[in-house]
Amino acid sequence: MKTIVIATRNRGKLREMRAAFKNLPLEIVSLDRFGDLPDAVEDGKTFADNALIKAKFFMELTGLACIADDSGLCVDALDGMPGVYSARYASLRSTVDLDHAHDSTDGDNNRMLLDELARIGVEQSSAAYKCALCFVDIDGTVVETEGKCRGTIKKIPRGTGGFGYDPYFYTDADKTMAELTLEQKDRISHRGEALRKMVEILEGKF
Ligand code: IMP
Repeated sequence: MKTIVIATRNRGKLREMRAAFKNLPLEIVSLDRFGDLPDAVEDGKTFADNALIKAKFFMELTGLACIADDSGLCVDALDGMPGVYSARYASLRSTVDLDHAHDSTDGDNNRMLLDELARIGVEQSSAAYKCALCFVDIDGTVVETEGKCRGTIKKIPRGTGGFGYDPYFYTDADKTMAELTLEQKDRISHRGEALRKMVEILEGKF
């Protein structure tokens, strides 16, 4: 059976990906299996760039086929920010070199988002969660998929589920992502869409 490494240390993402690939004849392993590996430098300008950087980096380190994802929140009133910098947004308070900044906590990133909206005098803004997935095989084969979920960022947080910006991300149904069950979120989310597309392509390969 072919082994595929999921290139993430995020337990939530790992759970979602394991569930998505459960019917494929593949052994799914996480990065934890390989001890202390260095992190890839995510200095791409798009989600797809970063997913490819991570998948290639860990395929080369582990010698196994690899799947990586990169995702984030793009806010229209902020010209698409925080975008690829979503996990490190609050680092903007202390550095302009976001490419090499460390991840910030969800709380700090959410405060940064609210402060930026207040700075430009905006009450709420349309926005999109975006996700790019990349599979890189040991023979160099690359498969890429993307998913997107539109919504509205508002200043009042609601709900305790999800992670990241979810309490501030209102879906069309006027519930925040943090008020949805995992199954409900998966059905409409950017990662759910990218994963379904990836599974469909890999089903034809393995
Ligand atoms: P990544 O792990 O480099 O892909 O960074 C993803 C970052 O984007 C997370 O740390 C969150 O800040 C944000 N993000 C991505 N997907 C979601 C989501 O489904 N809900 C909330 N925040 C998300």
